[in-house]
Amino acid sequence: MAIQTYIKDNQPALCALLQTLVKIPTVNPPGDNYAEIVGLLEAKCQALGMQTQVVPVPTDYANEFISNAENHPRLNLIARWDIGAEKTVHFNGHYDVVPVAGDWRVPPFGGEIHDEWLYGRGADDMKDSIAALLFAIQALQETGATPKFNVECSFTCDEETGGDLGAGYIVKQGLVNADYVVNCEGGGGMNIGNGHNGVLWLDIAVKGKAAHGSQPHKGINAFEKTAELVAALQRLKRDLASPTRAFTLADGSKRHPTLNIGGTFRGTEGDKINTVPAHVTFSIDRRITPTETLRFAELELRDTLSTACEYYEELNTDTQTLLQIEPCLTDEKSMFAQAFAKVVQAVRFNKPQFKPTTGFTDLHFFVNSGLQGIGYGPRGEGGHAIDERVHIPDLVRTATIYATFMSRAEF
Ligand SMILES: [Zn+2]
Repeated sequence: MAIQTYIKDNQPALCALLQTLVKIPTVNPPGDNYAEIVGLLEAKCQALGMQTQVVPVPTDYANEFISNAENHPRLNLIARWDIGAEKTVHFNGHYDVVPVAGDWRVPPFGGEIHDEWLYGRGADDMKDSIAALLFAIQALQETGATPKFNVECSFTCDEETGGDLGAGYIVKQGLVNADYVVNCEGGGGMNIGNGHNGVLWLDIAVKGKAAHGSQPHKGINAFEKTAELVAALQRLKRDLASPTRAFTLADGSKRHPTLNIGGTFRGTEGDKINTVPAHVTFSIDRRITPTETLRFAELELRDTLSTACEYYEELNTDTQTLLQIEPCLTDEKSMFAQAFAKVVQAVRFNKPQFKPTTGFTDLHFFVNSGLQGIGYGPRGEGGHAIDERVHIPDLVRTATIYATFMSRAEF
């Protein structure tokens, strides 16, 4: 109870911490002000008595993923509260935010509070989680409570661009020394995210041959070839919608793999009404259910593309992979997941449900390296959109859930 009271009584300090984080525009791309926020977070963790380790990503390595690593160094922070317990739980939050666009009612990096909401880019995705997590640790310490496990935290960059230089990097380097992970987003309220869908983004270039529009038989029409290819992809799309391909959620509902064709679609500069189009490029967004694998989804898609190229004459394609994210899943019946659910129920007076999210987070890096993990964070609105904001009462409840979990959970 003391922990709950501490967090409730110190709500202004929790909001002030979040405001400080929101006011540092860690916009990605390109990856602005990373050193500043990592410095601030490190000082905060040290003030909480945690052992800290700043993990810079070597420029050469970073340049394999991005083009501006010299001017925009990639940094991650790990902080540990080691109490000598047998088990360790890792808590992760990404500190980068997506760029600002559109007409905001408030300054995007102002951290203004109106009614029960705190506004700003990152206020929901996911600096609110970072503030709630740090405040949970502070609440334990200020009330003299000891966690039931060693607490290991990471504050990582680049989630918004795939996470390879953030959570992906620290996992790959073996810097995560934990048994379980709470990814502080990808769930919230009455939903615990025990996994998420994976993603495969491809760009397909269809190559034809230009000719004068008055003599189309002399060319190869890339637009018409694209139509043939799209017909083949639509057959795959129908397969994905069949009952055998569904993933069944804890509540019995079904989720299918999906295929979005042509989210981006373009010709070339030289396209004209009287020219046979020689080049068409379009995108494919394949969402992978938690029980599929990225490898399987990619093989299936590439097989569809190559079969179509064999079947249709003069259909030539060139495929580029833009993004690959593995799906992940943690058994909702595991002791760890159940222990977290019990705490959510105690704080919210209602039984939560398990639901892997359709969007992806950094959770897969941890879970696919062998940790059991769930996603859970405060509830807000407008992430990746205008007037992003977090509901302060939910920020408080989530900090309480983290703190209660640390101090009481048994698994
Ligand atoms: Zn996020």
